[in-house]
Amino acid sequence: MRGNMELEIKFLPGVGPRRAPILNQELKVMTIGDLVYYFPFKYVDRTKFYAIRDVNGNLPNIQIKGRITGTEMVGEGRKQRLVAYMTDGTGIMELVWFQGIKFVKQSLKPNAVYIAFGKPTEFNGSIKIVHPELDESGPDTEKKEGYIQAYYNTTDKMKKSFLNSKAILKLQSNALQQLRGQIWETLPAWLTQKLGLMGLEESIFNIHFPAGPEELRRAEFRLKFEELFYIQLKLLHLQADRQHKFKGHRFDVVGDYFNTFYHHHLPFELTGAQKRVIREIRKDAGSGKQMNRLLQGDVGSGKTMVALMVSLIAMDNGFQACMMAPTEILATQHYNSVMKFLGGMSVNVKLLTGSSKLSERTVIHQELMDGTLNLLIGTHALLEDVVTFKNLGMVVIDEQHRFGVMQRAKLWRKNFIPPHILVMTATPIPRTLAMTVYGDLDVSVIDELPPGRKPIRTLHYFENKRVLVYELMKKEIEAGHQVYIVYPLISESEKLDYKNLEEGYEHIVQVFPQPKYHVGIVHGRMKATEKDEEMMRFKTGKTQILVATTVIEVGVDVPNASVMIIESSERFGLSQLHQLRGRVGRGAEQSYCILLSGHKLGEDSRKRIETMVATNDGFEIAEADMRLRGPGDIEGTQQSGIAFDLKISNLARDGQVLQYARDVASEIIAADPMLEIPGNEILRKQMIALRKNHLNWGAIS
Ligand code: ADP
Ligand code: MG
Repeated sequence: MRGNMELEIKFLPGVGPRRAPILNQELKVMTIGDLVYYFPFKYVDRTKFYAIRDVNGNLPNIQIKGRITGTEMVGEGRKQRLVAYMTDGTGIMELVWFQGIKFVKQSLKPNAVYIAFGKPTEFNGSIKIVHPELDESGPDTEKKEGYIQAYYNTTDKMKKSFLNSKAILKLQSNALQQLRGQIWETLPAWLTQKLGLMGLEESIFNIHFPAGPEELRRAEFRLKFEELFYIQLKLLHLQADRQHKFKGHRFDVVGDYFNTFYHHHLPFELTGAQKRVIREIRKDAGSGKQMNRLLQGDVGSGKTMVALMVSLIAMDNGFQACMMAPTEILATQHYNSVMKFLGGMSVNVKLLTGSSKLSERTVIHQELMDGTLNLLIGTHALLEDVVTFKNLGMVVIDEQHRFGVMQRAKLWRKNFIPPHILVMTATPIPRTLAMTVYGDLDVSVIDELPPGRKPIRTLHYFENKRVLVYELMKKEIEAGHQVYIVYPLISESEKLDYKNLEEGYEHIVQVFPQPKYHVGIVHGRMKATEKDEEMMRFKTGKTQILVATTVIEVGVDVPNASVMIIESSERFGLSQLHQLRGRVGRGAEQSYCILLSGHKLGEDSRKRIETMVATNDGFEIAEADMRLRGPGDIEGTQQSGIAFDLKISNLARDGQVLQYARDVASEIIAADPMLEIPGNEILRKQMIALRKNHLNWGAIS
């Protein structure tokens, strides 16, 4: 037992058997140690006092000190209130209470000096503070007269038992008294010394009762650093451990498949970023270790070509490769573009999806087993147990956030030696999040679009400006281009959404009548074959306008489409809007993304739309998304299996601390991967002790 840290919370003075269960349930605070790790969410600088004469109604929370000269009951019934008059020699301030009047009146000592804290308001020419926080100023509260006060989040249930922020602060004070000399250091001494970190005990004291702004800053830094550091240490240790345990296929040749393709079939010059990423993958796959790599690249950055070229390297080394995509449309599209890219090259490529015929499947299974099938492209169908390879060396997973971790793990097991794995995503994840969610993967980034693309112009229109939008559509169609119109379908069962979609479609057919115009429609309620037919009609230019739901969100490639119109855009999330926008701007022509919305926009919707109009950069958008929604809700994190339960750091704000923590952890792991050096003992112990509910490590693959 670690002394009083592990003492049950009910034994803390001020808690007792009645409040203990509330702290257990509401805050998961079981022990005194848990309590001191329940950190404030904000601080208010109470080092400054205002002279009453200088106070006006525009000030935020302020603090004044003075003598209460008298009280008075004003008004009647529900409007009844208690007014106390405070003076500091420069003026008189009214302090007002509507509730708890009796209690306040009894406890006020006439002529004693008080400190009042709150938001001043101006009313009928007089200035008052309603429901101020009031503390008596005296010798034993001397230290309070110039301090930074911590505030704690509390729940309604807690408040009912008088466990408000102030009460928690009092409990913290009691707890820290019990713990003096018992908060043992959790980082090695050599490390705290080297980095100049504040000690743990001092940090815990200062986080609740800062001695001053500088002490608070150092305490926060130390605690944030430690929290992020151990996560990084664990991730990097996991990675080192895996590289140590699993051998990988060594791809040391670049041979005929790759070279023939490169010299005779490549339809365009690779971008610098594509070249760099292929080099990174080659180096990794040639190292003898198993590759686990995340490839991030904005929509349209040319990830498919990279996937094909690394598959060719696998073939050059005598291995099979597979590519998995989340939908049939996408898998088919990959298959078609791969076939087109390869031209007449003798590579055996097959497509396997849910709708593959039995006869096709039999051939595929046979060729996979005897090794004559080089590259298999498909959907989830690839995961079925009957799909077995002779020698699978490279797995590419596209739009990986659509796949669960379990599905990824299944592909691993398709070979005795696990294949190299490349997961590709067009949903950029903020760097800080990638370092945490995919912290044990290597990351490659394609940060450059193929040349000649004009940045998409994004415009926001309120719905009543629809006519202008139709004009733009007509002009674009006249010029031979095509248009998407996307309706929100938040839950596939929402009747109203379907009604909007269908009415929208009928309206468009009226405004854009046959035979001059042809309008198609796709949504999730259609059969897969119907959907594919409609998509094909659009792709081949038979329809100029496609009315759709977000089924077209991911990956669909129709370079001739130049306008993306998003209906009720205020209802979409940022990353979804960005994905949808990525459907246009794939050719050399100027493309447009039109965000239609209602007039009433909530604060967040407005910010989302503004962000979209302001930037085309997926990473910037991902950062904004994380700031708006918090890291826990970002697409891709839920499926990753990591529960975000950071106590003090915030991935949206603490990027620098995180990078620092990762660098430090990485240096340590490089020098001592298994943490066996005596001075590192404490690191290993702490890492193992990282509570299970903190991060779910088992789920990271
Ligand atoms: P994404 O990264 O979104 O999957 P794609 O692989 O679908 O992007 O590529 C988008 C389009 O750009 C495709 O039509 C593809 O053929 C083309 N493309 C890819 N790389 C290049 C390049 N280096 N130069 C010109 N066009 C390219
Ligand atoms: Mg793609």
